[in-house]
Amino acid sequence: MKKILLFFLLILHFSVKAQDADSIFITPANRAVLMQQLIRLPCKIELKDKVKTICDKIEKYLISYKNDPNFADDKFAKVANLQALKSVKMGGYGIGALIYENKSRKILYAAHNAQMTKLRSDLHGEMAVLNDFEDNPKNKKYRNKYVFKEGLTIFSSAEPCPMCFIRIATVGANTKFCTAGPDDGMTQRVQCLPPYWRDLASKISIKKAQSSPIMQMIAHVLFYSYLLDNRHI
Ligand SMILES: [Zn+2]
Repeated sequence: MKKILLFFLLILHFSVKAQDADSIFITPANRAVLMQQLIRLPCKIELKDKVKTICDKIEKYLISYKNDPNFADDKFAKVANLQALKSVKMGGYGIGALIYENKSRKILYAAHNAQMTKLRSDLHGEMAVLNDFEDNPKNKKYRNKYVFKEGLTIFSSAEPCPMCFIRIATVGANTKFCTAGPDDGMTQRVQCLPPYWRDLASKISIKKAQSSPIMQMIAHVLFYSYLLDNRHI
């Protein structure tokens, strides 16, 4: 009887843990909900912490984080999250992006959202890294005119929005993202596009990366970090 009871308690324990992990990905309605999600991270964040302290604690955790070998994309998720954090620390939105070579897995470019810091409406994380990459003449070898040759991947901390999705479809590069964007992400809404863009998007793969739950959680909270000080317009 004791063994049966223990078994059910274990099931309950793990199902609650799973629910905890799942609930962190629910879009936070306000600062209080986001704070609860932040406190659940293993970064020792407390309710009284100000934005700077929260950023410092996440940064400390990320820098010491060892990539989980069970998740092939953890290396890229960590760098994208560090970029996202850099933006938050500068008063911007928490999205980071990079471009890497598939064969060598070398990161060629990394950038972050710069809408607030540069006051440019187009500078989402993905757009910023694509601009940096395309502006360097040395990268012509990776491209056929403006379209990417095979062998490069774009990686974002968060699911591409409609604007970035169309740019990515235009350059024709496979893309991965760390956390889904239930409110603004485009990957589940491809059918809403006009036929030309739908066809173009069908030629590439834009999907969720294989990154650890903790990298996904950090990408999620950084995406919604604008709620911490109402920096969202
Ligand atoms: Zn975007």
